[in-house]
Amino acid sequence: MSELQRLILDRIRDIPDYPQTGVLFKDITPLLADPPAFAEVVNELAGLHRVDKIVGIEARGFILAAPAAYKAGAGFVPVRKKGKLPSETLEASYDLEYGSATIEVHRDAFAPGDRVLIVDDVLATGGTACAAVELVRRAGADVVAIAVLMELASLRGRERLDGVELHSLVIV
Ligand code: IMP
Repeated sequence: MSELQRLILDRIRDIPDYPQTGVLFKDITPLLADPPAFAEVVNELAGLHRVDKIVGIEARGFILAAPAAYKAGAGFVPVRKKGKLPSETLEASYDLEYGSATIEVHRDAFAPGDRVLIVDDVLATGGTACAAVELVRRAGADVVAIAVLMELASLRGRERLDGVELHSLVIV
């Protein structure tokens, strides 16, 4: 195991039965509160690919994607839950590990052919990431890769990504 993986795993805690019974929630707040660990994670994400934009998925994806975009010299684009973005949007619906949701992106968020990295905290069933890929493509940009802090392998989200390159800083 790499030093970065150890740094991450030691700072993510399991919360049983959150947000509902039967779900083991991975809480990343201890990692975010640790300056060296947070910096290492952001630097790693920023260095993965040369891109024009980094997309963060609401809400925890924002926390990682925005500093990574700053560090990489890329633009930051928010993908938000339905009803939160002020201008004209594209939307995609998907099933979650717990419930279902619709996410949106601004129609004009990208220049044609922009190279895009999509960032989120956790890949579970892959529904969210898959919907985000669809949105970015429909908005005219090119998805270079998806990056997550943690991949929950047992939920097999990777298989839903249809060959899009996936970087998981840790796989559990
Ligand atoms: P998926 O769509 O099933 O892959 O779920 C991924 C989305 O749900 C991401 O946006 C995560 O932020 C959130 N999520 C699912 N499980 C967890 C968890 O255990 N900890 C933190 N976020 C989670």
